[in-house]
Amino acid sequence: MASKRILIVGGGIVGLATAFKLGLRLPGLRITVLEKEDAVGRHQTGNNSGVLHCGLYYKPGSAKARLSVAGIQEMIAFCREQKIPHEVCGKLVVAINDWELPRLEALHDRGRQNGLQGLKLLKPEEMREIEPHVGGVAALHVPQEGIVDYPSVCAVLLKKIQAQGGQVITRAKVIRLRRATTGWLAQSSGAEFTADFLVNCAGLHCDRVSELAGERREVRIVPFRGEYFKIKPERQFLVRHLIYPVPDPQFPFLGVHFTRLIEGGIEAGPNAVLAFAREGYRKTDINVRDLADALVFSGLWRFLGRHKRMCWEELKRSFSKRLFCQALQKLVPEICQDDLEIGGAGVRAQAMSPDGNLVQDFHFVRRHDALHVLNAPSPAATASLAIGEEIAIQIERELSR
Ligand SMILES: Cc1cc2nc3c(=O)[nH]c(=O)nc-3n(C[C@H](O)[C@H](O)[C@H](O)COP(=O)(O)OP(=O)(O)OC[C@H]3O[C@@H](n4cnc5c(N)ncnc54)[C@H](O)[C@@H]3O)c2cc1C
Repeated sequence: MASKRILIVGGGIVGLATAFKLGLRLPGLRITVLEKEDAVGRHQTGNNSGVLHCGLYYKPGSAKARLSVAGIQEMIAFCREQKIPHEVCGKLVVAINDWELPRLEALHDRGRQNGLQGLKLLKPEEMREIEPHVGGVAALHVPQEGIVDYPSVCAVLLKKIQAQGGQVITRAKVIRLRRATTGWLAQSSGAEFTADFLVNCAGLHCDRVSELAGERREVRIVPFRGEYFKIKPERQFLVRHLIYPVPDPQFPFLGVHFTRLIEGGIEAGPNAVLAFAREGYRKTDINVRDLADALVFSGLWRFLGRHKRMCWEELKRSFSKRLFCQALQKLVPEICQDDLEIGGAGVRAQAMSPDGNLVQDFHFVRRHDALHVLNAPSPAATASLAIGEEIAIQIERELSR
């Protein structure tokens, strides 16, 4: 088993964590990560909020709950050990009116069911001791959450994979996968690679890579762009740490929030707008193939039919700083449009099923010679080391059959 060749498609945090964990678990495996960009972590991993999520929101027993609860602890320990910038600063989830209180309490219960310690419901005066400028009627304090520099995590993982004897090859887009007598033949934009086992961690393109490997594309990636504003330096005193709204249970995204960045500064966002390109970081980015792919997918139409109002509100907010600011004012009433400068954007790879439902949990498809990660949205960056460990265990099982 030790000399088997493992090919990982995708050098985001999930692909890198998987390579690292496989190398630790099964030293001697010949591991190659192929990444299409000129460096690792260029897509979701390098354009996210940089938050360490502890497992508050996710259905008890789900892979998301299990892997984020374990993953945050492992990620913090890894950052401490490797001296990667991070801070466990805590978060407030704020109910903006009495109507949101039952949902806040339900979130508290869910967190406790997921085994989180130290969660506390706060009255207005208590929450303002933590965040003096916050609005709302009550808050849930989540002490174990924090912020981190995920690109630095990737840089350390890259070095560790190389020190284990693995290879990470950039500018290598996998364009064809064929079965060989034993395993796989992968044609990339650079060279050809052979492998006994294939791991698909291609993020925004994972459904396409699975199709290259002969899978039916049942769930499909639908890209949702998340746009950010930055708070001007002279107004950053309005937010100390992390301030989040109570999420809408119908939607997998958390709603626009305030995030202190580990490198300094405060971000507000991200919203969630359907993107016309899987790597469309600007509103004007259109990729004809991605757009056509989305438009012929019946699941998207069903989703749009069911969530017309929400999609329209998100779209309007994307084009209107005033509306974006109004959403933020619910959390921090003193924030005003002049405090906001255009920030960056990220695109989420969200899997959707043909019936128009968003796949809520992490989704892995395992075959005897391949494993496809077909849904790894937030909090997969936080949970990446735990996800990598889980994949490594599954591969070990397959290889030892
Ligand atoms: C706006 C936003 C905010 C978020 N905030 C948080 C947060 O605060 N905390 C958190 O835990 N999570 C957050 N997430 C989620 C988190 O970023 C992702 O879950 C995580 O980065 C997924 O990692 P990945 O490796 O699966 O995907 P990616 O980082 O997208 O990596 C996939 C890689 O595969 C490569 N690739 C694709 N196709 C091919 C091919 N054919 N050949 C070779 N390479 C290929 C791509 O170039 C890419 O580098 C956020 C995501 C977004 C978009």
